[in-house]
Amino acid sequence: MKKKTIQDIDVNGQKVLVRVDFNVPLSSKDPNDIITVTDDTRIRAALPTLNYLLDHGAALILCSHLGRPQSAADSQFAMNPVAAALSNALGRPVIKVDEVVGETAAEAAASLQPGDVLLLENTRFEAGEKKNDPHLAAELAAMADVYVDDAFGSAHRAHASTEGAAQAMRAKGGPAVAGFLMGKELDALGSAVTDPAHPYVAIMGGAKISDKIKLIDNLLNKADKILIGGGMANTFLAAQGYNMGTSLVEQDAIPEAQRLLEAASDSLILPSDVVVAGEFAADAASEVVDVAAVGANQMALDIGPATLHNFKGQLQGAQLVIWNGPMGVFEFEKFAVGTNALALILAELVDDGAEVMIGGGDSAAAVRKADLTSKMTHVSTGGGASLELLEGKELPGIAALDDK
Ligand code: ADP
Ligand code: MG
Repeated sequence: MKKKTIQDIDVNGQKVLVRVDFNVPLSSKDPNDIITVTDDTRIRAALPTLNYLLDHGAALILCSHLGRPQSAADSQFAMNPVAAALSNALGRPVIKVDEVVGETAAEAAASLQPGDVLLLENTRFEAGEKKNDPHLAAELAAMADVYVDDAFGSAHRAHASTEGAAQAMRAKGGPAVAGFLMGKELDALGSAVTDPAHPYVAIMGGAKISDKIKLIDNLLNKADKILIGGGMANTFLAAQGYNMGTSLVEQDAIPEAQRLLEAASDSLILPSDVVVAGEFAADAASEVVDVAAVGANQMALDIGPATLHNFKGQLQGAQLVIWNGPMGVFEFEKFAVGTNALALILAELVDDGAEVMIGGGDSAAAVRKADLTSKMTHVSTGGGASLELLEGKELPGIAALDDK
């Protein structure tokens, strides 16, 4: 990795501003309720970085966004429940202030001693956060000596607490470095972009191709093959002239699909059969049909067994696999078969020595649902950020960190 991490700097006696991803699920959206954190996975995921810094003599100033508040008036998104869950996970007290920046926050930060932990209010309570307001960024950086970004999932947005705070810290002569979570993402996904092992097979699925044309283009340059399933495959099949019935097909994207097929007809591998239903429902009656035999009133909701068999063959011997996008409507158990079977095939490939990386929010959720997260080489925590990185884009939150 070409960016400095917390292991490259001395944090002893320093105040460290850490941008974490504490965007956790809450028990209620009603400000009159007692709101609690219902899943502290993201808080626990930050512990290696936080404990490392504390063990090395730092005092911590933590900040994160939480939900989508319009302003500080959306008090149901206050960080108080996060402070409680964090204190529980860390096993030490957490000081919480009710502002992101300002006199109270600055005073609390100034009186921190090594080992102390301060949690600032929801960064999106400040209008300047999403605008990457340099004054907000400077006020954040002013409270600390060091900036650490451990929120990979927010790295594709130039916000005041990400890109802005890193720049502001550098402007005042302090280091801006990656935490362990960020470092792990960059090592895993970064190597797939810059120095992929071969044979390299990409698997793409999900709902739409229009969101992912740039990603497919970039993968076509790097990967030896791309296997296509899910709703995305319908648009490719329609571009080949198949009648896809009532399936999700993006008519507007058909010319792009045709261009991709012409550019890479040998390396784009499409389904040969699909699971179809008469309606979009969890309990819809279904059957397996050849892609040439989709009825006018049928929609494809999963890949079929012949396709899976072919995909398995195509994956044999792969050294690197990147997967983005479920093979079907995995939210419905009945149409999760292709996605689950593929996840299992990939878990076996890891046992055979391949590197398998999963990017995308729904894809990570599908692997989690199949209970195979721990079997994969890497399951990215950043939905949009992982896709933009794989597109070959420079993410502003990462670009702003100090080079090694
Ligand atoms: P990710 O978040 O991993 O990037 P996407 O958001 O692109 O993935 O796609 C996930 C969505 O695609 C899921 O909600 C899933 O139901 C949907 N999907 C997959 N296959 C189909 C299909 N055949 N028809 C309609 N929707 C599909
Ligand atoms: Mg998604």
